[in-house]
Amino acid sequence: DEPSVKYKRVLLKISGEALMGDQGYGLHPPTVERIAREVKSVRDLGVEICMVIGGGNIFRGLQGSAQGMERTTADYMGMLATVMNALAMQSALESMGVFTRVISAIRMDEVCEPYIRRRAVRHLEKKRVCIFAAGTGNPYFTTDTAATLRANEMACEAIFKGTKVDGVYDKDPKKHPDAKRYDRVTYDEVLQKHLGVMDASAIALARENNLPIIVFSLDEPGGFRGILSGRGTYTHVGQ
Ligand code: UDP
Repeated sequence: DEPSVKYKRVLLKISGEALMGDQGYGLHPPTVERIAREVKSVRDLGVEICMVIGGGNIFRGLQGSAQGMERTTADYMGMLATVMNALAMQSALESMGVFTRVISAIRMDEVCEPYIRRRAVRHLEKKRVCIFAAGTGNPYFTTDTAATLRANEMACEAIFKGTKVDGVYDKDPKKHPDAKRYDRVTYDEVLQKHLGVMDASAIALARENNLPIIVFSLDEPGGFRGILSGRGTYTHVGQ
């Protein structure tokens, strides 16, 4: 019995740290593979998938600039880190027979495609997983904002933000056992209560376009597919 899926096109956002497993840094290939399998199982339902992967497992601009590096240079390094993560995800997906394209906001023609909106849409229509790399291409932004931007441009029905916990809590559930999970929360509440879903510019951009953000746990096997078919726990961030 195939579950019924109400989504046609979605964007999955994961942080770079989701790819490092239990290590403190970098890429953990079995973890990359595990997430790739989650993506494949949703692709196999016929859902068109965009992905944005952060770079925090390798480099964060703010860390670099705290150590005296010029902020914009450090941010470019962070964006390059996201390209490495995108390539790792591409490799894992393609080894499973999933066709993909890595599409970079910073031109790197020998490595991946440049971002051309209509071309990316065409890839999605052909059921290729589009992995958007190099964030927005601009310093002072984050990959959360890049995810919101691309989801809007690609006309995704929602952003699925895969995290370590099954939704948005009023405080960190890993530290506070009495933390309470929200089933639904508005963009304004996220901003006012500083709920750590995504940074403020990403939330504002989602609000402006009424783009729902579904926060769910990526640690749950089959979680992504379950959520897309209406099972499991998650938080819906919306109007
Ligand atoms: N970054 C940037 N512009 C963007 C996206 C990312 O300058 O549009 C840089 C920024 O320095 C950031 C780093 O890339 O710290 C890695 O991205 P992010 O922190 O969003 O990764 P995540 O926390 O999701 O792993």
